[in-house]
Amino acid sequence: MVQISFNGAMASVGCSSVLVDTGVEKIVLDYGTKIQEIPPLFPIPVQGKIDAILLSHSHLDHSGGVPVLEAKKNGARVYTPNVTKQLAELLWLDSIKISHEEKVDLPFNKDDVRRTLNNFVPTDFRKSFTLKKTKVTLFDAGHIPGSTMPFLDTGEKTILYTGDYKISPTRLMKGADTNLPDVDTLITESTYCDREHPDRKSQEKELARTVHSTLANDGIALISGFAVGRIDELLLVLNQYGIDYPVYVDGMAKKALTIINQNHHLLKEPKSLNRVLEKVEYVKDQGMRKRIIKNPCVILTTSGMLSGGPIMWYMSKLHDRQNCSLTLTGFQVEGTPGKTLLETGRYINDGIDVEVKMSIRRLDFSSHLGRTDLFGFINRLDPEKIFCVHGDHTEDFARELKEKGYDATAPLANNRIFNL
Ligand SMILES: [Zn+2]
Ligand SMILES: [Zn+2]
Repeated sequence: MVQISFNGAMASVGCSSVLVDTGVEKIVLDYGTKIQEIPPLFPIPVQGKIDAILLSHSHLDHSGGVPVLEAKKNGARVYTPNVTKQLAELLWLDSIKISHEEKVDLPFNKDDVRRTLNNFVPTDFRKSFTLKKTKVTLFDAGHIPGSTMPFLDTGEKTILYTGDYKISPTRLMKGADTNLPDVDTLITESTYCDREHPDRKSQEKELARTVHSTLANDGIALISGFAVGRIDELLLVLNQYGIDYPVYVDGMAKKALTIINQNHHLLKEPKSLNRVLEKVEYVKDQGMRKRIIKNPCVILTTSGMLSGGPIMWYMSKLHDRQNCSLTLTGFQVEGTPGKTLLETGRYINDGIDVEVKMSIRRLDFSSHLGRTDLFGFINRLDPEKIFCVHGDHTEDFARELKEKGYDATAPLANNRIFNL
């Protein structure tokens, strides 16, 4: 009997983790954190020896706790494409650095990161391998470079875990691989189960319009975004709309862009990012920051929700300049400075509390699928059982699926074990 249980991301986003117990193997799908909390939250601990970790992608809400399992000397192999190893290393070391700055204890250190990285097994899409009895295949999830949907064939049941996924193509990604084998049990993210994304083209045009008009007013177009999978997408969009450079990139996105460009075979158009990066300058130090804000330019930087990184310095210098603009390009979690800014017009963070006179807008460049694509994907797969995780409305989503005749469940934080 195959059993599954959920360690996190139940009726919420953060701490994604699922345990699959086939009777002879324990397989962990993701082991993430919730970094918006201080100190960060981790999934429910996994009891006993783990045979394998299948890591869907590098974002910390999926990967951030993997070194904790390793800190407990688990020694489990981590199967994922090589780019995810490189990006996870970058994000893990950054979370250690932030924890020192915030004087917060993390349950892992640099040695645990190093040990964890030694246990990675670089695994390409569609290259099947067998654990003790379960055959595993990683399919492209289309979310960010290297994101996978692990598919497990235990001999009794087949399970697809979507991680985060997007079906429709973006400038950066070609969209998820939907040519899938028969799926008995589907574990799906539910982030946008209750809503559609605005038309992507309209968001692209709005971004280009904002940047053009800011530059025309001799202002600085400041654009915030997530380091992995967002700033790269935005650079491709700006290039498409012929933005007059200079364009600068600051913060952790610099290293992430270099890693992703090294793995350009994972992009929709492998050479596209390299072409754009030739026109972009990386901000090297504080002196360069002071210099570039003297003239009209575009600056893309982290963090996506304005809570850390170089955006804090730019906001302190540019907040009262009406000819400058700030564009937020990702979802803003409740309680983050980005969300507060949208609601109050004030930037409040780390001792700064200022009224923002720049023009502010939030655009939707999401790398998750919207409601119609989610239901369409499920209809095509037609699984026996569905588990809805990773969303604020998983219970409503499961109820809707039940009304359509599916056996759907939104697991809740009660340590329940499900027999497949
Ligand atoms: Zn993600
Ligand atoms: Zn996620």
